[in-house]
Amino acid sequence: MAINNYDVITRRTFHQRALGAGAALLGASTLARKAAATPFPKGKYFDFHTHITQAWSFKEKLYTTELLKWMDTMGIAQAVVLPLISPESWDHPITTDFVLRETMAYRDRLIPFCSIDPRTINLSSPRKREMLQKYKDAGCKGLGEHKVGIPIDDPRNLDMFHACAEVGLPILFHLDNSRNTDKPGLPGLEKVLKEVPDGIFIGHAQGWWASISGGLEQADLQKYPEGKVQPDGAIGRLFDTYPNIYGDVSAGSGANAFSRDPEHGREFCLKYADRLLFGTDYLAPAQEVPQFALYDSFNLPEEVQAKIFRDNARKLLGLTA
Ligand SMILES: [Zn+2]
Repeated sequence: MAINNYDVITRRTFHQRALGAGAALLGASTLARKAAATPFPKGKYFDFHTHITQAWSFKEKLYTTELLKWMDTMGIAQAVVLPLISPESWDHPITTDFVLRETMAYRDRLIPFCSIDPRTINLSSPRKREMLQKYKDAGCKGLGEHKVGIPIDDPRNLDMFHACAEVGLPILFHLDNSRNTDKPGLPGLEKVLKEVPDGIFIGHAQGWWASISGGLEQADLQKYPEGKVQPDGAIGRLFDTYPNIYGDVSAGSGANAFSRDPEHGREFCLKYADRLLFGTDYLAPAQEVPQFALYDSFNLPEEVQAKIFRDNARKLLGLTA
């Protein structure tokens, strides 16, 4: 059996962690929580959107140990770690296998998702379900970051979404003018929500968050629009009509949607407190993350903070301590 350097390094890293300090720390923190009867790891936030990367990335690498250290600093109890495998998503694949291995010793805090590109060869509907089930059995709690260069309502996407619904994996998708594309008003996404009512969908990126406002043109779905939010935004309409769609407030796009019109942003948090998921899209050391100061400035009621910052995510993923 051929083993490349990548396998050797990651296996060795894993064994060091599992047998050494990582396992000891993990054991200690689990025991401490049991003694204190607190159900989840300590921290104000559940971050629904992070990545780990590898040394050859165009950005400085971010390994799990560095991610965990940053989480401790920022008060993040747990984080979803998202693979990126489609050619439109990253400069090299961050595979599900890599994410599963690297999070293995820290599963109380790092929640792996899986990723399958629906254009992959020989991927029949039963085979999709089989692969998703295997990933779920290995610990994956959702599909994403789904960042594929086809329309959101492409038949290959719909088939993948049906498979996710059957297996019970929520889908975190990136929507803009080159990935999971749609038109102003998001009619393609609406078709998906109608056709896959058992699926759970989580919207992310410029095209999704620009749609907090009405009056959009196609180019706006790639932008970070400024100024007052206009009435009749697609997101509010979809939230009001479909119970199976959520918003991941991470990244520049998520921050911009709320900071461009802070009064509207705060009201939107209050109105849709059950549909918003705190997230950062942290993927490189020392990355600026505007979400913390932004949500501090909103001064939201305690129960709204609890929902957006932590509880919606845990409920949606069925996490128990
Ligand atoms: Zn991302």
